[in-house]
Amino acid sequence: MADLSTLHVRELKTLPICDRCNRPVDRLIEVEDTTFDRLTFIAACHGDRERITITHEELVVMRGGSLQFGRAFVQVRALPPKT
Ligand SMILES: [Zn+2]
Repeated sequence: MADLSTLHVRELKTLPICDRCNRPVDRLIEVEDTTFDRLTFIAACHGDRERITITHEELVVMRGGSLQFGRAFVQVRALPPKT
């Protein structure tokens, strides 16, 4: 039986800016799933990882324009920082 999911993994050279370090992240891995037509980006920086998955619907919209990265590791503070 064939594997239902076909994944293509590559390392990207265009790196998003890490919101915590204020510099490009250490690594950015793109995982393309051609079976389900979706992309997952895994950013690695400061010993942490962030994963973003872009679905088929989002890809259709984005293919009309250009793909741009925002900032990685942006934290939404639910509580004020401790003093
Ligand atoms: Zn960082």
